[in-house]
Amino acid sequence: MNTAAPLTDDLRSLYQEIILDHGKSPRNVRVVEHHTCKAQGNNPMCGDRVTVTARVSPTGVLEDVAFEGKGCAISIASASMMSEALAGRTVSTAQQLFSAVHDLCTGKTDTDQAKAALSPDLGDSLDKLASLSGVRQFPVRVKCATLPWHALMSCLDGKNQATTEK
Ligand code: ZN
Repeated sequence: MNTAAPLTDDLRSLYQEIILDHGKSPRNVRVVEHHTCKAQGNNPMCGDRVTVTARVSPTGVLEDVAFEGKGCAISIASASMMSEALAGRTVSTAQQLFSAVHDLCTGKTDTDQAKAALSPDLGDSLDKLASLSGVRQFPVRVKCATLPWHALMSCLDGKNQATTEK
């Protein structure tokens, strides 16, 4: 017998829809023009490879974020959602969202806890990104979901490589 509440099932299928949508039709698959940083992410466990490029303004705003690469639907969807969520945000906001997504994917926090820790205007972005938290049931997939974020953080740190095998 299925004991899951209907709402949970609805949420689960909604999350899957968002991931499928971004996985099939990823946004911002390109190289950012006049990018100020570029980093490659590599997840040998799954074969995901993404290259993230970004343009950071002198005042620390991520003016544009994009990616290219090959990988499973989760890694591509995550990269696509990341690029949408972070364009126009400050670097420090990007870092906050990264740790929120990381904690959600690894099961350290749930969506409500993660939201409470962020400024209110980030709630909508997190709602979408929370769709990635389903990977917590599949430890191998956690690396797929967080790979583009690791790559972006390396990019912002001035490193050009990120790997999930640290
Ligand atoms: Zn993957």
